[in-house]
Amino acid sequence: MPSRGRVLLLLLLVLVPGCRREASPAPDLIVVNARIWTGDPARPEAEAMAVREGRILTVGSGDAVRSMASSTTRVIDAQGRRVVPGFNDAHWHLPMRPRVELAGAGSVEEIQRRLAPLTQAGASTDWVIGGGWGPTDFPDRAPHRRYLDADFPDRPVLLTDRDGHQALANSHLLRLAGITRDTADPPNGRIGRDASGEPTGLLQEAAMGLARRLMPPVTEDEAYGMVLTELARAASFGLTSVQDASASEPDSVRVKAYQRALREGTLPIRVRVAVPFEKGATAARLAAFVRVRDAHRDGWLGFGIAKGMLDGTVDGHTAALLAPYADRPTDTGLPMWEQAALDETVAAYDTAGLQVELHAVGDRAVRMALDAYTHAARVNGTTGRRHRVEHVELPSPEDLPRFRTLGVIASTQAMFASPDSVTLGSFAPALGPERASRADAFALLDEAGAVQAFGSDYPVFTMEVMRGIHAAVTRQLPDGTPPGGWYPRNRISVAAAVKHFTADAAYASHEEREKGTLAPGRMADFVVLSEDVFGIPPERLWAVKATMTVVGGKVVWEQR
Ligand SMILES: [Zn+2]
Repeated sequence: MPSRGRVLLLLLLVLVPGCRREASPAPDLIVVNARIWTGDPARPEAEAMAVREGRILTVGSGDAVRSMASSTTRVIDAQGRRVVPGFNDAHWHLPMRPRVELAGAGSVEEIQRRLAPLTQAGASTDWVIGGGWGPTDFPDRAPHRRYLDADFPDRPVLLTDRDGHQALANSHLLRLAGITRDTADPPNGRIGRDASGEPTGLLQEAAMGLARRLMPPVTEDEAYGMVLTELARAASFGLTSVQDASASEPDSVRVKAYQRALREGTLPIRVRVAVPFEKGATAARLAAFVRVRDAHRDGWLGFGIAKGMLDGTVDGHTAALLAPYADRPTDTGLPMWEQAALDETVAAYDTAGLQVELHAVGDRAVRMALDAYTHAARVNGTTGRRHRVEHVELPSPEDLPRFRTLGVIASTQAMFASPDSVTLGSFAPALGPERASRADAFALLDEAGAVQAFGSDYPVFTMEVMRGIHAAVTRQLPDGTPPGGWYPRNRISVAAAVKHFTADAAYASHEEREKGTLAPGRMADFVVLSEDVFGIPPERLWAVKATMTVVGGKVVWEQR
């Protein structure tokens, strides 16, 4: 028998040509002459890497990796550049319509200037959609429809603020929506009013729905176009994964657009999509969320997480606080849930096996989320769900250790620490100095042992990863202000920031064994950077570019 076995094996090796190659397969792609930061503690640095069928074969020395190559292997010479795992934006939104970018406008005149090209074009039924303004762009921090009415007397204008939690409508749109001084605030929303009770055009939280429901629906082709252009832009910043936190219905136009891109093989990067987290979700509804998750196990398009909202924003005075706003002594914000209903709903999703992510900015809302997760773990006896709190801008110091003990992810946004005019002129004064000093406190969360996943909240903020890393590391603007950084106690290291944008973001989607580090068996998702982020002065981080982005061993972006 033994000799017969040997003969058989020999025959197999000779007769089946693929057989020998499979024993030590040649890579499709090798990266050489690189400075690889792997994120893998077993081998933190390397100079070369081999890839086959979308996965990493080996990470090692240049000689070892070169010797594996065959004549068909593609060789990427990184020219000594820094290579890191592909970035993963843990909190991102696909914009569904093109909009006029108002970020950084700084004044009403500049907002009007940016909208000016639209005053000529378009019919009276065409909407003027913009976004990105901050309260400090307006005199007395008071956005008002009067600034829009002269240029747009008979077309609907809706301009969302930089946080996406309030919007300014012109008078024509208020008329179309039937919003008058007699209109009551909707639940979880506010209609901005002047001293005499007249609507100002400012619509906060759910009040935006009064205007938005009049917008023409986005078509499937338009949504598909947005998927392709927005994900291609993401790849150009080194992103190889994004986690869309938009609470999408499984049969929505957005999800259909992602599925079409998956089917047609046109998804440039990987996407995970959140479904709605809602009060009274029926068993059938939860089963549908589980079904869409189980139907997508390909590594490109994923589900399995539900997004809910517990409060608003500090700038809008809608974030739910334990103590009143510094500049509004009777106002503690706008919590959107009762604790008992939240507990019950989180427990229901938890039982169904779904991960939950709850938007919670203020210390009161963050505590409500942590309390609900505590409740779910207790009544269901579940562990390892990795439920998440999104934004966590102002956690109470007492609640910081709970992230680690509960295994709850702190899903924070690096760019929120950017001390721009809105942060300094609106956000910080609303909280007062003590609370502002521990807001977006990435260092405090790290020290408390929380798993902290970084994201951008695009399109609220730019999705340029290096801008985010620069903000987290320096707490300064690219122009170097303020000197020393905004509350520099909360600066973190470049390595910590990169880890939050890679391995920790992968952990936050239960995918740390698939991506986020560069090690044998992992997905071949990586980015080549124009400069060594670990070696340059931190003031220059914002200017670092992705020169090449590779997803599943395929080059999806290359700077030319
Ligand atoms: Zn968001």
